[in-house]
Amino acid sequence: MELTNIGTIKELFTRHGFSFTKSLGQNFLINPSVCPKIAEMGGAKKGTAAIEIGTGVGVLTKELAIRCDKVVAVEIDEGLKPILNETLEEFDNVEIVFGDVMETDLHKLISEKLSGFDEIIVCANLPYYITSPVIMKLLEERLPIRSVTVMVQKEAADRLCAKVGSRDSGAITVAVNYYAEPKMLFKVNRGSFMPAPNVDSAVIRLDVNTVPKYTPTDEKLFFRVVHAAFSQRRKQLINPVSSMLGIEKKALAEMLEASGIKPTARPEELKMEDFVALSNKLSEK
Ligand code: SAM
Repeated sequence: MELTNIGTIKELFTRHGFSFTKSLGQNFLINPSVCPKIAEMGGAKKGTAAIEIGTGVGVLTKELAIRCDKVVAVEIDEGLKPILNETLEEFDNVEIVFGDVMETDLHKLISEKLSGFDEIIVCANLPYYITSPVIMKLLEERLPIRSVTVMVQKEAADRLCAKVGSRDSGAITVAVNYYAEPKMLFKVNRGSFMPAPNVDSAVIRLDVNTVPKYTPTDEKLFFRVVHAAFSQRRKQLINPVSSMLGIEKKALAEMLEASGIKPTARPEELKMEDFVALSNKLSEK
């Protein structure tokens, strides 16, 4: 069954009484070249297991199932169940868990369904409304995964893959770089989806660090500093960090200098090491 064919999808929807739920970010891929590319560039191959988030009609699930030994997918919309029973019928290595990925215990899912796999990858065409929370959940929970290859809005991809210390960077850039090495893979135009969204997309891959690359004394404080600093992205970070962390400006200026950072610096000028140095300095107080 050609799952990127508009006629096939419409026929499936009519027969199973399915209609799109916009609020669930249901923009399904209809460009036949995209899913094989996501699977290949995401590292899908024999000996690996894949986790997918959001199956839609199973267009990417199928490409993962062809290449990997096992696929476990989490899909929120139970209305897709009869469709997936049909579209993925030929694959005995696919298991679909119906539920909200944000509420899913992924450690448990991995230990129950993917134990024994040394290499686990995540591949998904993410629903736009929860792109950042899903990515951060995958990274923050320190799951035993090799990489996360996801389609996101082009603007989100630019931010996630920006260089820390550049004008395009933000709190999410620092957070992602803390856990992984982000890489922009390829752009996908809006016409590749049904229904077509109002924005273009891009596929990115995050290669998860197996050994922590940064080890601030107090990880929670590190993230508080990053979020405070970027709360006013184009302004000097001394003001929001001082007010949000409750530190006198004069004392903070001294700490910034002691960390090798200009007191007039804006957050987008700081490198990963600068954020670590500053939070370490703050944790001494
Ligand atoms: N993979 C399919 C494709 O490429 O055509 C569908 C991608 S579509 C952008 C996003 C999918 O995620 C939809 O199937 C939607 O129902 C599902 N979804 C939305 N929110 C979800 C959540 N919180 N947990 C799990 N799946 C979710």
